[in-house]
Amino acid sequence: MAKGVFFVAECRDGALRKVSFELASTARKLADQLGDEVGAILCGSGVESLASELAKYGADKVFVVDNPALEPYTTGAHAQAVAQVVKDNSPSILLCAASAQGKDLSAALVGKLATGMATDCTDLRIENGRLVAVRPMYAGKCYGEVVISSDPQMASLRPNVFPVVECAKAGQVVKVDVALGELKTKVVEVIKDTGGKIDVTEANIVISGGRGMKGPENFAILEELAALLGAAVGASRAAVDAGWRPQSDQVGQTGKVVSPNLYIACGISGAIQHLAGMSSSKYIVAINKDPEAPIFQKADYGVVDDLFKVVPEMTKEVKKLLG
Ligand SMILES: Cc1cc2nc3c(=O)[nH]c(=O)nc-3n(C[C@H](O)[C@H](O)[C@H](O)COP(=O)(O)OP(=O)(O)OC[C@H]3O[C@@H](n4cnc5c(N)ncnc54)[C@H](O)[C@@H]3O)c2cc1C
Repeated sequence: MAKGVFFVAECRDGALRKVSFELASTARKLADQLGDEVGAILCGSGVESLASELAKYGADKVFVVDNPALEPYTTGAHAQAVAQVVKDNSPSILLCAASAQGKDLSAALVGKLATGMATDCTDLRIENGRLVAVRPMYAGKCYGEVVISSDPQMASLRPNVFPVVECAKAGQVVKVDVALGELKTKVVEVIKDTGGKIDVTEANIVISGGRGMKGPENFAILEELAALLGAAVGASRAAVDAGWRPQSDQVGQTGKVVSPNLYIACGISGAIQHLAGMSSSKYIVAINKDPEAPIFQKADYGVVDDLFKVVPEMTKEVKKLLG
C-alpha cells in the first residue's frame, strides 16, 4: 500500500534552494495529518552534506542519490533517479517545486510514474485520507480543487507561498545507488542570465516596472530602491518586448510566477496575463497615474501619481529609515 509523503529537494550551485524548505515543511504538515513519514529525495553530486538541513525542516528520511551524472541538472538523469526512489518506496504523495527545474522534472516524472498531478498549487490539505490540491486556473481568475485518484498523488508547489517551519528532526540519511540508464542529453555550458542578481521567484520583495517606465535607463530608479530593500527588479512583458529588460525578469503568464511578501508595480496597467504571475503576492502596491488602471483592483495599497515623482520619494524615505 502506498504510504508516506515524499518531496524532491532542489539544489543550485551546491546549496538547497528556499523552496526545498517550503516543500519539507508542507510535507511534514501533511504527513502529520496522515500519521505518515516524510521522505526527502536529494539528487546531485556531492550533496550528502545537505541532507541534515532537510531533516531540520521535517524529513524523517533523506534519500540521497549522489552521482556525478546528476550535476548539472538534466531531465533524463534526475527523472530516472527520482522515479527509482519513488518506485522502491511507494509514497502516497510526491511533492515537487513549481520552479523552472521542478516544472521540467515533474512533467517527466508524471509520465514515468503513470500518475496524475496538480501543478502550481497554492494550498494543500488532506480530506478523507487523500490530498486536496488548490491551484489557480484561467490565469488566476479562479481557483480549482484537484483530487488525484492514482498514487503517488503528485503536486507542485508555487515557490514562496507555503510557510517554512523548523522542527529539529534528527532524520536518517539513506544512500541510494541508482544505475542510470542511457542519458540522451548532456549540458555543455550553463549561461547565467541574472548576473548574480536576486531571482524574482526567490525574492521577498519584487519591484516591477512596465511600459510606464518609458525607457530602459529609467529602471535605474527601481534598481536603486531595490538595492536598499534587498529586492529583485521585475518587468511586465511590454517592458521586456521593448528590449528594456531581459526575459528572465518578466513576471506573468508567459514569464515567471512570483509570490513575494511585497510586490510593487510601477507603471504597469495590470493586464490579466501580468496578474497571473503576481496575484498571490502577500501585499501588492501599485503606482500608476491612471486611477482606472486594473492593477488597483488587485492592489492592497495604490498610489495614483507619476511614478517618477513617487519612486524617488520612496527611496528618500527608505534611506531615512535605514539611517
Ligand atoms: C498570450 C499572452 C501572454 C502574455 N504574457 C504576459 C506576461 O507574462 N507578463 C506580462 O506582463 N504581460 C503579458 N502579456 C501582455 C499583457 O496583455 C499586457 O500587454 C502587458 O502586461 C502590458 O504591460 P504594461 O502594463 O507594462 O503596459 P501598459 O498596459 O501599456 O500599461 C502601462 C501603464 O503605465 C502607466 N503609466 C504610464 N506612465 C506613467 C507614469 N509616469 N507614472 C505612473 N504610471 C504611468 C499607464 O497609466 C498604464 O497603466 C501577455 C499577452 C498575451 C496575449
